[in-house]
Amino acid sequence: MTRTLCKHCTIPVHAGDVCTFCRNYVPPVRTPETDDYLQAAVVKIDSIRTDVNTVIRELPDDTPMFAIVDIVNALWNLRNAAVCLDKATDALVADAVAVGRHE
Ligand SMILES: [Zn+2]
Repeated sequence: MTRTLCKHCTIPVHAGDVCTFCRNYVPPVRTPETDDYLQAAVVKIDSIRTDVNTVIRELPDDTPMFAIVDIVNALWNLRNAAVCLDKATDALVADAVAVGRHE
């Protein structure tokens, strides 16, 4: 037996191709500035990553290894933050487009 999945959230549905939650979901009102703020945050994070990368390259040879490990971990977390904000922005834009289609 093939299960049909909701085309928005991929949970199994018993009828149609949209689950009850997605059919009735009304997203919060989103102003166009939301995308701008999130994109600006990503730009700031990328700028910080560039600065920290410069710091790493200029560290003396006798820098404690665990300090370098902490800095690299911080860079990794900053990168993940930028990726998450990008994904969230994409989801907000896609959701706005999907909801616009139902109206
Ligand atoms: Zn759904």
